[in-house]
Amino acid sequence: MVLLLGINTLATTYNTPVPFEFSERIRRLPSYPAAGGYADAAPRVRLASNESPWPPLPAVQEAIERTLATLNRYPDPRSSALRRRLSERYGVPPEQIAIGNGSCDILLAAGEALLEPGAELVHAWPSFSIYPHLSAASGARAVRVPLDERERHDLQAMLREITVATRLVVVCNPNNPTSTALPLGEIAQFVAEVPPQVCVVIDEAYCEFNLLDDPDASVELLGEYPNLVLLRTFSKVYGLCGLRVGFALCGSPELPRAFDQVRQPFFCNAVAQAAATEALAHQDAVTERVTRTIAERISVEERLRALGLDPAESQANFCWFGLGDRSRETRASGANPRFGQREEREVMRGLLERGVLVRGGGALGREGALRVTYGTPEENAIFLDALAEAL
Ligand code: PMP
Repeated sequence: MVLLLGINTLATTYNTPVPFEFSERIRRLPSYPAAGGYADAAPRVRLASNESPWPPLPAVQEAIERTLATLNRYPDPRSSALRRRLSERYGVPPEQIAIGNGSCDILLAAGEALLEPGAELVHAWPSFSIYPHLSAASGARAVRVPLDERERHDLQAMLREITVATRLVVVCNPNNPTSTALPLGEIAQFVAEVPPQVCVVIDEAYCEFNLLDDPDASVELLGEYPNLVLLRTFSKVYGLCGLRVGFALCGSPELPRAFDQVRQPFFCNAVAQAAATEALAHQDAVTERVTRTIAERISVEERLRALGLDPAESQANFCWFGLGDRSRETRASGANPRFGQREEREVMRGLLERGVLVRGGGALGREGALRVTYGTPEENAIFLDALAEAL
């Protein structure tokens, strides 16, 4: 009886609205549009978050298990072993490498370290959904530059937006959500034209899947440009997004130092550090997984075209296509395809009824488009059959 009374009292307390006055910053901040599929009843085929369809490698799982017995200790706050391994792998001094609780953590830290009211951030749109948080959190002005007609960054337009107030420019290559990439030559030319006091982050979360250039080639630019940051992650090709670990290769030690300064101590947990360090020792497996994903990319895109769709030229582990106007002629004419919200919702519902979860473009900056991660061959076959029925 007493217990029941207690529960009732608690329920009443929870239902009472409290008139908190939240900070201006909280009122400005958008909610990150995380995909569904993480609750108990997950759909059969999850292609909504650009994850790896394959589990971490056995050696990485063993490294994780070995760490469990030491979790009574705090992790190494400097992630020394991981930074050392990254330094050997990329030839970048350890003090020029930032580690993060996912690469998002480093992006947010860069925003906090560089932006403030009166400052400006330049980024493309549609692009990765976290970028608008950087300006909203800091009170800086965001300048969103539309992608070109091939859904790629318009670097010339971005350059034109740089002013004396610009502190940070972000280029997502390959771009999420459109899957497109620019050749390194164009990126290098762009970086050369950005004033040296402006930090340029090239978000390369998907670079391993990009066939336009060797993913290691951009690293050479770091020697020339102290304002450059190459942002990478263990979440995609390494299949470790559940652990949250990313890194940034920086052109100068001042940047990682500032990024660390704005974060809580011990931001990268011990299991993540151990797993990422081990994962780096298995580059052959990474290459093999990339090859498998690219084979899927080719066959999925072929089937999408056979369905009358026109996917963007993907250099990532996902595809992006509009639903509203499926005529190729309209797109070839250079007219902006009319993407529609109705088609997006209906097709997503149809896919979900068949057990397939994908991402709608509406939450990512363009209504009437779908972003679909390449899964295993079996998952992709289920998706394509479901799509053919749902269209
Ligand atoms: N950059 C891009 C372009 C992404 O798409 C993502 C994840 N969706 C990230 C960064 C962040 O990944 P994480 O925080 O898991 O490293």
